[in-house]
Amino acid sequence: MLPTDHLMEKLVSLAKRRGFVFQSSEIYGGLGSVWDYGPLGVELKKNIKERWWRSLVHERDDIEGLDAAILMHPKVWEASGHVAGFTDPLVDCKHCKNRFRADDPRIKGTPGEPTAQCPVCGSKGTLTAPRMFNLMFKTFMGPVEEAAAVVYLRPETAQGIYVNFLNVLQSSRQKVPFGIAQIGKAFRNEITPGNFTFRTREFEQMEMQFFVKPGTDQEWFEFWRQERMKWLVGLGIRPAKLRFHQHTKDELAHYAKDAYDIQYEFPFGWQEFEGIHNRTNFDLSRHQEYSGKKLEYLDAATNERFIPYVVETSAGADRTTLVVMADAYHEEDVEGEKRVVLRVHPAIAPLKAAVFPLVNKDGMPDLARRIYDDLRRHFNAFFDDGGSIGRRYRRQDEAGTPFGITVDGQTTQDGTVTVRDRDTLVQVRVAADGLVGYLAERLRG
Ligand code: ATP
Repeated sequence: MLPTDHLMEKLVSLAKRRGFVFQSSEIYGGLGSVWDYGPLGVELKKNIKERWWRSLVHERDDIEGLDAAILMHPKVWEASGHVAGFTDPLVDCKHCKNRFRADDPRIKGTPGEPTAQCPVCGSKGTLTAPRMFNLMFKTFMGPVEEAAAVVYLRPETAQGIYVNFLNVLQSSRQKVPFGIAQIGKAFRNEITPGNFTFRTREFEQMEMQFFVKPGTDQEWFEFWRQERMKWLVGLGIRPAKLRFHQHTKDELAHYAKDAYDIQYEFPFGWQEFEGIHNRTNFDLSRHQEYSGKKLEYLDAATNERFIPYVVETSAGADRTTLVVMADAYHEEDVEGEKRVVLRVHPAIAPLKAAVFPLVNKDGMPDLARRIYDDLRRHFNAFFDDGGSIGRRYRRQDEAGTPFGITVDGQTTQDGTVTVRDRDTLVQVRVAADGLVGYLAERLRG
């Protein structure tokens, strides 16, 4: 195992070198805590999102999909409590103008008092008393920048689901219990961002809200807690690196009756990357109150009317991608040489196979191209005829490509290629015309 601090540095360096993640607007010096996904990163993240969507929306009858807009009526955020309560207590240094969270462990003393010292410039007595700072990004809709035109970039996708509860219920003819799933961007003006893509100001969430009859909520909560952990293990993440953390009374959000974080042991410690929350009927009740529209459900069997309770599973697509990358990063010695390999689950690997002509002669490049053309109609594949075969293998190991296909002298005679397994390094000969079926079988799962 690598010393943990180095793992993060190596991951950031690999992410940039191989085109997983770049800093936003890098040529202008970057934009704080905003990141872009490069050619391999976009594939990895997309595969994770698709797998999530498939497992919830396609493989279940009781969950529908939704794609709500980022901009919403400003009253949504009053009803949800975000205008009043989505705040962090912050402290400013009047001397160096830096801003900190009031609970920043580097601050010595009590902010606002003459003895407190700024952790950046070291001045004494220059820290203001904590002030509440809202984390929502504000902008203006329409031509006039006035208070009445303020809209927010959504800080979570969940509210788009709640305000569409009746629309989805009626159009899909679902019955409670049922869920609505959504993947989309969310924005938070985080003050202490950092740790690469762990805490960013623009990020993507994969959220599912499951509407249930009051009284059955804890049972469903337990069900979804287990389901989500199973899904993460199925994604190939090492179970020993995953754990639940139940929120204490102090940690529980104002709307929640019970909540668990799923944490991963990052190089910088155990941290949340997904949450399962019993949000009660808080959100729907508040939207009913603020909009004046009834958001009740009529149970046709019992003729009862009620506002459903909501069990939420809320995951960050970016944090999950970071977990997958951190968990997959391995360095090992192979015959005296260092090999960096991303052991991502083959089903979510950005590239499924790379095709190499062993040498650029004797008809091998043409044959390899034909095999590549055939493969890429089925999988995301890559063709590489540059450099020694060893170097080409190593480039794909770093990209996490599970299979390396080499066309050699024997291919021209008997139509077989070698298939090299990224993890075991075992090579087997497979008939080129059966390659698609062979790979499909091994990529399943
Ligand atoms: P944290 O305590 O880390 O700020 P949170 O408890 O506010 O997170 P939730 O509001 O429950 O997080 O959001 C659900 C998920 O959305 C998180 O588990 C995380 O994966 C993702 N997420 C939240 N904020 C960010 C962020 N600033 N950057 C990247 N992902 C985020």
